[in-house]
Amino acid sequence: MSGKYDVVVIGAGPGGYVAAIKAAKLGLKTAIIEERRAGGTCLNRGCIPAKAMIHASSLYREMQEAERFGISASDVTYDYGKIVAYKEETTDKLVQGVEQLLKANGVDVYDGKGTLLEEKKVRIRKEQEDVVLEGENIILASGSKPLILPIPGMDSERVLTSDALFAMKEAPKSLIIIGGGVISVEFATVYANLGCKITILEAMPKLVPNMDKEISQNLKMILKKRGIDIHTSAAVQGVTTEDGTCTCHYIEKDQEQEVTADYVLCAVGRCPNTDGLFGENVKPDMERGRVLVNANFESSIPGVYAIGDLIFGVQLAHAASAQGIVVAEKLAGKEPSIDLSIVPGCVYTDPEIASAGMTEDQAKENGIAVKCGKFIMSANGKSIITQEERGFIKVVADEATDKILGAQMMCARATDMIGEFVTAITNGLTVEQMLKGMRSHPTYNEGIGEALEELEGGAVHVV
Ligand code: FAD
Repeated sequence: MSGKYDVVVIGAGPGGYVAAIKAAKLGLKTAIIEERRAGGTCLNRGCIPAKAMIHASSLYREMQEAERFGISASDVTYDYGKIVAYKEETTDKLVQGVEQLLKANGVDVYDGKGTLLEEKKVRIRKEQEDVVLEGENIILASGSKPLILPIPGMDSERVLTSDALFAMKEAPKSLIIIGGGVISVEFATVYANLGCKITILEAMPKLVPNMDKEISQNLKMILKKRGIDIHTSAAVQGVTTEDGTCTCHYIEKDQEQEVTADYVLCAVGRCPNTDGLFGENVKPDMERGRVLVNANFESSIPGVYAIGDLIFGVQLAHAASAQGIVVAEKLAGKEPSIDLSIVPGCVYTDPEIASAGMTEDQAKENGIAVKCGKFIMSANGKSIITQEERGFIKVVADEATDKILGAQMMCARATDMIGEFVTAITNGLTVEQMLKGMRSHPTYNEGIGEALEELEGGAVHVV
């Protein structure tokens, strides 16, 4: 069996399926190959299930704290099996949506593992007979898989990846998380909300190392207050498993330490998924397992593109999707509609964290003179109503041109509100232009206006 297409996409994650739908919408005959389920890591084992678990577990914690709003909810309990079922229903609904969209847009979907062969052919291994597709262009979007630390004891069945933790039918009573990045602090939030004893061991000196220093410090303080034990500059040496418990051996301040829990979650990052992706003698240039691409996302093999977690850059679903759109547009002979240089980074802790563009320190490192406006959310009406007054909004603008360069937020709905800044930065808006639009009241969004006003002679609600 065979077929000829303008575009053949391998992998139906947020990079691949978005690229395929966009290519089809732009009139290109498109096929997509997926070996597991449409939606990729994001819908099945990443963003969506994680946020569903955060939502359910936060609701449980908030109900226990509802007394402050005059609501008695003294016997609040949870059924972990039902929380998992809700998470699965949510992901199923979204996966079905993606499948319908692919079909409705006329994308041919092939189940199975796709392997790139010579002359822009792709083989899909089938029990009866291999299917070979021919693509004028191929987009590799095979994503990533959890990285396992190369230290002793990681092969224990009590050492989990995020995939394995999602699949558990019972909540762990105690959990050690190796790594203190975004995935770590989100899982810590979920299971601490559900009453699980959490220990985080992070090798770097701070949590969420890629985020602004102030945000990392505040997050550490907030998580500690929730009972999470956090050790930064803690290098894990190995894990031993005995009698149904795991002990992590680590070095902190030159001292050998250990901590024991039911399970260990290894959350030290993800590596590109290239298992079986390349046929014999067909491999684009790669570095540290990632496909190298040029500014058009084209690999060293002409007509073979790569996007998403498979290439260097941030490993985020919206980045993969945006790259997918830009590649599809290029293949259809169109100019790119998205500016890929500003990628918002979000952490769905409580409070949420979001950032886009430059921090004050990064601007200074680049020799740019900046002015910064900061608004503390304890003076924001909506935050007072919901008693979510913790946090701040900080805006970084170019001193000379007044253009917005970046924003960092740690407050309720930060992950939604950061969009305002992404639009501003990518369109070169100035502080003055951002202040022109009225913001509704009462909203967390008003905090953005106040942070901007701090740059223009002072916010109204700041002394
Ligand atoms: P993937 O989503 O990994 O999809 C690749 C697809 O290709 C998979 O379906 C795979 O089965 C398929 N495939 C692989 N090889 C082949 C082959 N040879 N043939 C056929 N099919 C193949 N990002 C965010 O932006 N926001 C978040 O809140 C967020 N939360 C996350 C939480 C967790 C716990 C994790 C693990 C990740 C999270 N991410 C988040 C990251 C996000 O999931 C990834 O960046 C994103 O899914 C990458 O998209 P992709 O299309 O490149 O690859």
